[in-house]
Amino acid sequence: MDQNLMKKYAEFVVRMGTNVQPGQTLIIQSPLEAAFFARACAKAAFEAGAADVVVKYSDDKLSRIRYEMGEEAALCDVKPHLERSYLDYVESEGGACVLNIHADDPNVFAGIDAGKLNRVNLARRTALANWREYTMNDRIQWCVAAIPAPAWAKTVFPGLGEEEAVEKLWQVIFEVCRVDAQTDPVKNWEHHVAVMNAHADRLNQLKLRSIHMTSKNGTDLTVGLAEDHIWESAGGVSEKGVPFMPNIPTEEVFTAPHCMHVDGVVKGTRPYVYNGQLIEGFSVTFKDGLVVAHSAEKNEALLGELLDSDAGARRIGEIALVPASSPIKKSGVLFYNTLFDENAACHIAFGAGYPGTVKGGNAMNTQQLLEKGVNDSAIHEDVMVGSEDMTITGLTQDGETVAIFENGEWAF
Ligand code: ZN
Ligand code: ZN
Repeated sequence: MDQNLMKKYAEFVVRMGTNVQPGQTLIIQSPLEAAFFARACAKAAFEAGAADVVVKYSDDKLSRIRYEMGEEAALCDVKPHLERSYLDYVESEGGACVLNIHADDPNVFAGIDAGKLNRVNLARRTALANWREYTMNDRIQWCVAAIPAPAWAKTVFPGLGEEEAVEKLWQVIFEVCRVDAQTDPVKNWEHHVAVMNAHADRLNQLKLRSIHMTSKNGTDLTVGLAEDHIWESAGGVSEKGVPFMPNIPTEEVFTAPHCMHVDGVVKGTRPYVYNGQLIEGFSVTFKDGLVVAHSAEKNEALLGELLDSDAGARRIGEIALVPASSPIKKSGVLFYNTLFDENAACHIAFGAGYPGTVKGGNAMNTQQLLEKGVNDSAIHEDVMVGSEDMTITGLTQDGETVAIFENGEWAF
């Protein structure tokens, strides 16, 4: 790939994504394959004044060996030092922020016992609950970005050789992340964020009670919205008031549904990777917020595992609007990676809501959030349901119906 563009991308991710502050530690979580990119990010972070950079490498192939050969009880016994290895930094004087680099092979865990995989992941999430709270509640700056790795690139471009596939995926990622040789990505994103914020502002002014989504594929879903919900877009602000961008790229305007008031049928419109396996062609029926029926053309049992993760997994915590003209959708590429695919279509998320999507939510406990309608769960899984013919209307408190999406595009 173009080394200069890669450097530019790393700098953009660190400066605008994490916005690491002087004196802060940047924690980078990176797959082994992305080590060169982690190093570029580390340099950019030190240049931005970071006190230190701590890189935690992961290895999916090793994880697969553990899932295959390890005893479930041992794998579920997550030791406290793992959570401390994050908390020690965020609780220190300068504090910390975190960058997650993705390069996952979408099929890395294909064929592995889905139940075991789910239980082990859940044990890990539970053991890291205090750390997860820092990012779910935007207490610190956090960012997720991705770079190609051979197995992922080959899944996206099966007709190309490994090297060409990686090169092609780099090009597409640069494109949808608005990184090129001529322009300043920070400026490009400031403009894009302003446009998305305008949509979010308009939705916030409407103070909707619910939205109604329909598509030719049979989707007919009414999503009640949480009390005092706030529509948000690209930018987050940490507890200390530092702006950051949680997802690169991002095209969504999202909020908290009311987890007890979701009714109807919704169809999946893009394959979805869960725990390293693909779920395709799903259909889900809601009644009073709860999933009462589900099916899928591929990996239906895995979808069942997801929904049975815990009490909140059968309800949704996020509703996100993404126009069909999104650059990710327009690229025509199916990424097999939620970070990208969720930005190609409207989506819902099974599981926890973001506290920040209701007024004052970041200072509320789980019970207070539930009273507002914000769902609680150990999982948060975005699944794509938007289509080019999707119509969305909103219902105001006065019972007025307003157009939000027509033919997959913003109606205002
Ligand atoms: Zn989302
Ligand atoms: Zn989400």
